[in-house]
Amino acid sequence: MKIWVGIDDTDSKNGMCTTYLAKILMDRIQKSSGEIIGLPRLVRLNPNIPYKTRGNGAVSFLVETESLAEMVDIANETVLEYAELDDVNTDPGVVFVNAEDDSLMETLYRFSLRVIRDVASMDEALFLIGKHLIPHLKYKRGRGLIGALASVGAEFRDTTVELLAYRNRERFGEKREFNPDSFFLADLLSYPETFDTVDWGNDSVISVPNSPDPVLFGIRGESIAAVMKAYEVIETEEIHMYQVFVTNQATDMHLYTEDEIQMLMENRSYILGGDVVEEPFEIEGGHVFFSISTRFGEIRCAAFEPTKQFRNVVRKLRTGDRVVVYGSFKDETINLEKIKIERIADIYEEFNPLCWKCGRRMESEGSGKGFRCRKCRTKAREKVKVKAERDIEPGLYEVPPSARRHLSKPLVRMGTETQSHIFR
Ligand code: ATP
Repeated sequence: MKIWVGIDDTDSKNGMCTTYLAKILMDRIQKSSGEIIGLPRLVRLNPNIPYKTRGNGAVSFLVETESLAEMVDIANETVLEYAELDDVNTDPGVVFVNAEDDSLMETLYRFSLRVIRDVASMDEALFLIGKHLIPHLKYKRGRGLIGALASVGAEFRDTTVELLAYRNRERFGEKREFNPDSFFLADLLSYPETFDTVDWGNDSVISVPNSPDPVLFGIRGESIAAVMKAYEVIETEEIHMYQVFVTNQATDMHLYTEDEIQMLMENRSYILGGDVVEEPFEIEGGHVFFSISTRFGEIRCAAFEPTKQFRNVVRKLRTGDRVVVYGSFKDETINLEKIKIERIADIYEEFNPLCWKCGRRMESEGSGKGFRCRKCRTKAREKVKVKAERDIEPGLYEVPPSARRHLSKPLVRMGTETQSHIFR
C-alpha cells in the first residue's frame, strides 16, 4: 500500500528542524520494509501563524509499505529521539494517510489550501482525523497535526526545489564554517536556475542560517540539476548528509487575489490594487509607510527597515499613483513583499512666474494680489505649474533576497515583463 507520511512541529528556537527529522525518518523507513517514492516535499504554510518556530514548514513523503504498524513504530521512535519535546511550544504531529483514498486526498487538498493561506484550528484537524480514521501520532498538544495533514494534502501548480545540507550532530549550535566566496561563485554559475543563495546588493550569503538547527545551508532552484550544480562548488565544514525537497517556496501560493475575497482578514496575505492616497512617510527605525484606497477601503502599507533598498522605490510614490501591493495583512497594515507600479501620476509643482522682460522670478505681492518683477515692474496674476520629473518607472519591484519570505515569488521567476527591476 502507498502511504503519505506528514510531519510537523518538531523543532524549537533552540534546535532541530522538521526537514532533518523527516530525513532521518525516511532513511530508517527505507532501511526497514518501506520504499520511499519520489522526493519528499517541504510545504511552507501560512507565514503569519504565531505558533511558528521559524519558516512554518511541514514535510510529507510517500512510502510503499506492507507494514503500516512498523512504520508508525519507527516514526514514534524518531520523534521521541529527535524532537524538541522539552520546549513548551513544540507539539509534534505525524499522520499516515492512505494515498489511494482519492476522496480523502481531495478533502486534505482543500484543508491544505486553507492552512497555506488561512488559519485553521486544532479541532478541524482532529475532526478530519476522527472522521476519516487517519492513523496518527500526537505529542503534547499535537498542534503539528495541522501542518502534517496540510503537507500531505498540498498540491502545487508551481514548484521549486531546495537542497538542504545538514551538519554533523556534534556541530549543532556551533558557528557555521563556510567560504562565502564559494556561495557567490555558486550563484554566478547557476543563477537564475538557482536563486536567493546570496544577496549581492547587501553583500551577504543568505542560504546559510544563523539559528542553532541542523541545517548547514539550503540552495533553492528550479531543478535538481541546478541545485546540484551550485552544491558542487560550495565549500563548508563537513556535510553530514543532504536531501532535495520539492517545495512551494518562491511561488506566491500564500496570496489571495482580490476577487477571491469579500473582506481583508488579519494574518492572511493579499494582492491588492489601489491608488496612493497618503504619501510615504518614515518613522524611527527606517520603516516607511503609505496608504492606498482599495475596494476594501483605505489600507496602510509598510516597507519595513529590513527591506533595505526596496524602500527607495516606495519613498518615491506620490498621491494618485496606481499600484498593486503584495504582502501579509498584519496589524491592519500590508507588509510589502512586492509592489507593481501601474500608473505614475502627473505631479505639478507651482512656481512664481518668470518676468517676460528680464527672465528673473517674480515676487508675490501678498496673498491673492498676484506677482511682480521688482526690476521691470511687470506683473502676473497666477503661479505657473510645471510638470515634475518623476524618477520612477512603472513595473514590478521586489524586496532584496535577504528580506524575502519563503513563499514569496522572486521577479526572476515571474517572466520577462518583470526582469528590469530584479533585486539579486
Ligand atoms: P518546524 O521546522 O518544526 O516545522 P516551523 O517554523 O515550521 O518549525 P512549527 O514549529 O512547525 O514551525 O510551528 C508551526 C505550528 O503552527 C505547527 O504546529 C503547525 O501545525 C501550525 N500551523 C501551521 N500553519 C497553520 C495554520 N494555517 N493554521 C493553524 N495552525 C497552523
